[in-house]
Amino acid sequence: MNFDEWLDMRLDRTKKAGLYRKLRTMNTAPKPEMSINGQKQIVFSSNNYLGLANNKQLIYAAETILHEFGAGSSGSRLTTGNTKWHEKLEERIASFKQTEAALLFSCGYLANVGVLSSLPEKGDVLLSDQLNHASIIDGCRLSKADTVIYKHIDMIDLEEKLIETESYHRRFIVTDGVFSMDGTIAPLDKIMSLAKRYHAYVIVDDAHATGVLGENGRGTSEFFGVLPDVVIGTLSKAIGTEGGYVSGSHVLIDFLLNNARTFIFQTAIPPSSCAASYAALELIEHSKEKRKQLLLNVKKIKAGLVKMGYTVKGHDTPIIPVIMGDAQKSVIFAKKLQEKRIYAPAIRPPTVAIGESRIRLTVTTSHRPKEIDYMLESFNLIGKELNMIK
Ligand code: PMP
Repeated sequence: MNFDEWLDMRLDRTKKAGLYRKLRTMNTAPKPEMSINGQKQIVFSSNNYLGLANNKQLIYAAETILHEFGAGSSGSRLTTGNTKWHEKLEERIASFKQTEAALLFSCGYLANVGVLSSLPEKGDVLLSDQLNHASIIDGCRLSKADTVIYKHIDMIDLEEKLIETESYHRRFIVTDGVFSMDGTIAPLDKIMSLAKRYHAYVIVDDAHATGVLGENGRGTSEFFGVLPDVVIGTLSKAIGTEGGYVSGSHVLIDFLLNNARTFIFQTAIPPSSCAASYAALELIEHSKEKRKQLLLNVKKIKAGLVKMGYTVKGHDTPIIPVIMGDAQKSVIFAKKLQEKRIYAPAIRPPTVAIGESRIRLTVTTSHRPKEIDYMLESFNLIGKELNMIK
């Protein structure tokens, strides 16, 4: 068997398990209605929760700095890649997150990996929620500390695990703020109390909560009125741009700048992108109405689906998982949605557990009522056709 035949054989296994993935080409800017593979589709799978990716103020900010600073940063932050725009954005993130300082990474994935691989030491333990994002899992794998998994948002199990791990030197609880596949919100107030009682540190990945949760969109911390030791996030979701960050104390940021390999050895994001993110953060604190509209959209979709008889998971966040169970069934459902010009992907193992395959809907403020109504009506028709609902 030659190299390609060997890979083909492995891909065949993926195909037989119904887990084969293919890219689709987006031919338009991120909006609710997009051209995907040349076909007009109403998109219910974007992370552009507040519609900022396509906002004129962000585009103008990026364009201006693009002309001044060029297309790429051409170096890591510690060599020649650092500009005043990276620094301005870090200050802005810190003030938005109400922490002393912040550090930019090229994406949220690398921020998680950078923190988790550098912060805990040998002899420490990471207590990680069962449904944490892949980047947290990979960060834990790279860490010299041990990892113990606790049941998803189960505070009784977390407490038990805290008691069981008392012999470790330091303990770190690590959790998503809003879980990317389930739309659940981590009970950060309770996690913080447990951390205090058992002398543990708390690391939160607020990728999906930033811009969405809390009065001013500051995320899970604001939602619960607490401040974890390390807050990680991405600029690629509600902020509408790209890049990741860590916010926390001056000393935490100084430590990461000196130790996080995904910071040290990565080329800095382009200054134009920093300028767009800066403009987004200026808008986000004043987007209360948009956040209200987003929540109304979430509630309308969830109520509609539950009334039809679907199993819908999660709390009130823009991530709405509709459970189908079987992987093939989810694929068929997603295909039927696409035939009706609705794009909402099937999520299958290994992203979710076996038997938990689903259609993962996400909603934004930009979706119009008629688009939401049409999507709900399509769920009704397809569900009846496939004998999933009455
Ligand atoms: N954390 C979570 C919870 C996410 O959902 C994602 C993106 N899917 C990331 C981190 C990674 O962020 P980025 O896309 O900026 O790498």
